[in-house]
Amino acid sequence: MTAALNIYDPSAKPTAGPRSLAGLTRPQMLEAMKSAGVEDRKAKMRAEQVWRWVHHHGVTDFEAMTNIAKDQRGSLAKAFTLARPEIVERLVSVDGTRKYLIRLAPGVECETVYIPDVGKSGALCVSSQVGCTLNCTFCHTGTQKLVRNLTAQEIAAQVIIARDDLEEWPTSAENRKITNIVFMGMGEPLYNLDAVSDSIDIMSDGDGMAIGRRRMTVSTSGVVPKIQELGTRTRAMLAISLHATNDDLRDVLVPLNKKYPIAELMDAIRAYPGLNNSNRVTFEYVMLKGVNDSPAEARALVQLLKGVPSKINLIPFNPWPGSPYECSDWETIETFAEIVNRAGYASPIRTPRGRDIFAACGQLKSESERLRASARKG
Ligand code: SAH
Ligand code: SF4
Repeated sequence: MTAALNIYDPSAKPTAGPRSLAGLTRPQMLEAMKSAGVEDRKAKMRAEQVWRWVHHHGVTDFEAMTNIAKDQRGSLAKAFTLARPEIVERLVSVDGTRKYLIRLAPGVECETVYIPDVGKSGALCVSSQVGCTLNCTFCHTGTQKLVRNLTAQEIAAQVIIARDDLEEWPTSAENRKITNIVFMGMGEPLYNLDAVSDSIDIMSDGDGMAIGRRRMTVSTSGVVPKIQELGTRTRAMLAISLHATNDDLRDVLVPLNKKYPIAELMDAIRAYPGLNNSNRVTFEYVMLKGVNDSPAEARALVQLLKGVPSKINLIPFNPWPGSPYECSDWETIETFAEIVNRAGYASPIRTPRGRDIFAACGQLKSESERLRASARKG
């Protein structure tokens, strides 16, 4: 990690302007009530009431908080806002995928992608950092320097924003569109585990957004020393960006492998808390033409995963301008998938979603910068 990295401080407050209550953790909400002068003996109840209005009902106006006395609502409105970070760009793909470019602070922007028809209904792909310190050679986000870690509030706000847009407040509404959360946007979640863990507490709270912990998947490129901690703190599902079955190749594709080679990674995965046949690890494997897509590699993958309750996600490579790879041919991907399937692993080929709006895996952030730059020129 670079020296410029903002270490996550859960008590950090924005430097200017009233603070938004949307996306705070429970302890932060309690602190906020006390700081606004609510008496200590009432603060807990008030925090619980406000929490529910904000995270269950999604209200954007203190006046809607009808179980709080009018004068109290007035003083809360003076001290706080219910504002969300600004959406600077909202794109809807022909396949229904929605991408939001969200401004967290001047010059600090992240992307969030809503993907319909995943899991029971739809998944929201959230970012945990702006940029990334790692440099996976096939990933566009990896070509960008880390700007900073997101706070738990900023991660939770991505869900709040998407729910506003999809009009799914209150939480109890039927046929919810966002049923799953995947930490597969920008950044390496395990380099920001405190905020990721707090955000999972916020999003899974039954009195708020109520998204089950087992419906949240955290994807890592393999930060071995943090894998166990992820499991014990969050009880979320684990996804591993594997992409290669031997260290020589993985060292090139995912340079973090030089620090934490495959054998160590596999040991950490086997020890992941709560792993069993109904809670499997997802292995992501990007299909790169002539690089990692041979039948021999499919067989090596099967060998490597022996005894680990796994699902394999084959991701057709999404190209980006200047990317040094091509996507494998369709027949090659099918042959690969067949070998893995025959060995008893579910291995769906992930259909690229939202390619027309540059929302597909590995295309995030800089594409939108480029699009906006060209729009400005035109
Ligand atoms: N940093 C974390 C979370 C990002 S998840 C991680 O690497 O796991 C995004 C997934 O998309 C990862 O599996 C990543 O390896 C994959 N990916 C990155 N660039 C891609 C590209 N150009 N095409 C397809 N998949 C890509
Ligand atoms: Fe970072 Fe993940 Fe991209 Fe690698 S694949 S550069 S870890 S975002």
